[in-house]
Amino acid sequence: MLTGKTALVTGSTRGLGAAAAAAFAAAGCNVMLNGFGEAEAIERQRAALAEEHGVTVGYHGADLAKLAEVEALFAAAEGISGAVDILVNNAVIRHFSSIDAFAPADWDRAVAVNLTAPFHLTRLALPGMRKRGWGRIVNISSVLGIGARSGRVDYVTTKTALLGLTRATAAETRGDGNVTCNAICPGSVLTPNTEIKIAELAKAEGLAPDAARREYLKRRKQPGDFIAPARIAELMLFLCRDESRDMTGGAIPIDSGRSASWLEEDT
Ligand code: NAD
Repeated sequence: MLTGKTALVTGSTRGLGAAAAAAFAAAGCNVMLNGFGEAEAIERQRAALAEEHGVTVGYHGADLAKLAEVEALFAAAEGISGAVDILVNNAVIRHFSSIDAFAPADWDRAVAVNLTAPFHLTRLALPGMRKRGWGRIVNISSVLGIGARSGRVDYVTTKTALLGLTRATAAETRGDGNVTCNAICPGSVLTPNTEIKIAELAKAEGLAPDAARREYLKRRKQPGDFIAPARIAELMLFLCRDESRDMTGGAIPIDSGRSASWLEEDT
């Protein structure tokens, strides 16, 4: 059912975005990759997806902090088949600082990449989706779009605001036939970014890798293991299939019950 659609996935050169790009390609979608990384590795990723799944896969290295580059990315994605049917706003930058010490330039860049770029891509995608009577926008928020942790003000604020963008988009598209916009709120996912944080924890506390993984999850009260990127990609696919056409404006947790149980007391 998704065969022949074109999906633009921002921040898809690694982590969850790369898993999403692979899932969309496997479902028969053409894909526009975006994000930073080593040129040869990105070309290997692009070529492998195209060859394995027989779809068109493009890459555009737009810096999402820059409006002209966001517009060029959208135009390039549209150039694949004449339409952007699926937009996944996934790219992220993160800073780790208290509010008092937060560098103003970091704040501006975080808002630009994590929130303003999704707004512009939504603005650019909607006219075509309305015209064709079919479109899917999936915004990747976080458990930190529902609650807060100290030292994460840019992330918490932009991930919360993405839920507002999701609802506003759903409100403006609900009469447009089969166009939906939903947000996904994952708990901790094992991506390169998480691996870096676990390695930092291991070094700071003198922990073995496995112990550091367990401690990382324990501090976040996430039971079991990390959420697998492939399972989040499956949820994205579901939100893009016709079966989910009546769901729009949602903020869907995929966090092993973390956000549902914040008020649970430790026993
Ligand atoms: P990641 O840091 O591994 O990858 C981020 C991607 O965004 C990379 O491809 C990077 O090149 C790209 N990017 C960063 N700045 C960019 C810019 N200015 N322009 C274009 N691309 C840019 O991230 P991840 O851990 O895979 O997370 C993916 C999404 O999932 C994010 O929206 C994140 O908030 C969300 N999420 C992740 C976790 C987790 O535990 N990893 C948990 C909850 C939510």
